[in-house]
Amino acid sequence: MNNERIDKLVNSFKDKFDGNPDILVRAPGRVNLIGEHTDYNDGFVFPVAIDRDIMIASRRRDDLIVRLYSLDFDQSVEFSLGDIKYDEEQKWSNYPRGVAFFLQESEYKISGLDAVITGNVPLGAGLSSSAAMEVAMATTFEKINGLTIEPAEMALLCQKAENKFVGMNCGIMDQFISRMGKKDHALLLDCRSLEYDLIPLNLENIKIVVCDTGKKRGLVDSEYNKRRAECERGVKILEKFLPGISALRDVEFSDLIKYSGHIPEITEKRCRYVIKENIRVLESVEAIEEFDLLKFGDLMNESHIGLRDEYEVSCPELDAMVEIAWKIDGVIGSRMTGAGFGGCTVSVVVEDSLQELIDKVNEEYPKRTGLQPEIYICTAEDGAGVVEI
Ligand code: ADP
Ligand code: MG
Repeated sequence: MNNERIDKLVNSFKDKFDGNPDILVRAPGRVNLIGEHTDYNDGFVFPVAIDRDIMIASRRRDDLIVRLYSLDFDQSVEFSLGDIKYDEEQKWSNYPRGVAFFLQESEYKISGLDAVITGNVPLGAGLSSSAAMEVAMATTFEKINGLTIEPAEMALLCQKAENKFVGMNCGIMDQFISRMGKKDHALLLDCRSLEYDLIPLNLENIKIVVCDTGKKRGLVDSEYNKRRAECERGVKILEKFLPGISALRDVEFSDLIKYSGHIPEITEKRCRYVIKENIRVLESVEAIEEFDLLKFGDLMNESHIGLRDEYEVSCPELDAMVEIAWKIDGVIGSRMTGAGFGGCTVSVVVEDSLQELIDKVNEEYPKRTGLQPEIYICTAEDGAGVVEI
């Protein structure tokens, strides 16, 4: 399947730009196993890079012109590195534009290039095709210009491109895992220090399954901002009793309980979720290291319940998807993943029960919601890199 994609990409390059590309680069999408809404609270996340990616075939130019062709959209753009502007028409090109803009702002000397882009990360499903696009583009500029960009710096540059150029207020997780993922590993990332640890998953006979609810993530922007504000409010109040804290990351669960009488009920619920979710991430790593997958599955389930009842970012569609999975014996754990109000769930499933999960989701989910699910069976893969042609 990948060979076919590569052939198609290279042929398309030959078609559009004559001659062969210098290099082919890929950067993966991701799924977060546990640690939701913890990133902006300076906490922990635990994603894997997946076997769906953006691929870019490119050739260096001696001038400052960047010519890009999107194979999937059948659209071309051209711009100069000397004058990078937001593109209202071909919005996909703002990811590469933003990356080029912030590379140059960081004093990297880059030349123009011709490139063809293709991807199989579903767009807007919550598997972060946008981060894959940014990291693939940054890696392309890095390799084609013989630069060395520290992985964490590249992730930060790409995040900046998405925050400030595209205008989407995302955390650092997606770009970080797309750059730094490792085959058969998940990444424990401390969103405050950016320290990280690659944890072997030991998932023999176990599958990671992503189920897309097909529900558009409608409320997500306004509710996301509200949740962030409630977390900040919690910190402001708790600061009076716990001098020196700067994020919910710094608050012990026992302290939250101790001072809960001073915190409005809703804010307290939000804080309770975040503090417990951070603990769950660290306990998940321990569980996996001790080969205690059942414990990990329980933590995933608890995470969903917290997102549903305390953080209140789930929705009937996500709950239905998770409930269908929970009823199957071979499902070790299942939870919503991503910001919520639609998007995907992630389940960890014994291989023997995979078909049962697929069948049940296809049968029961449309009945309960009237929507059509998409199912992606994922493996944990390496982060961005050059693909040998
Ligand atoms: P998500 O990151 O959850 O997939 P986003 O809305 O953040 O969703 O990013 C999706 C956008 O990324 C698309 O609208 C498009 O602009 C860009 N993109 C993703 N995949 C591709 C692709 N294969 N070709 C061109 N642009 C893409
Ligand atoms: Mg995105």
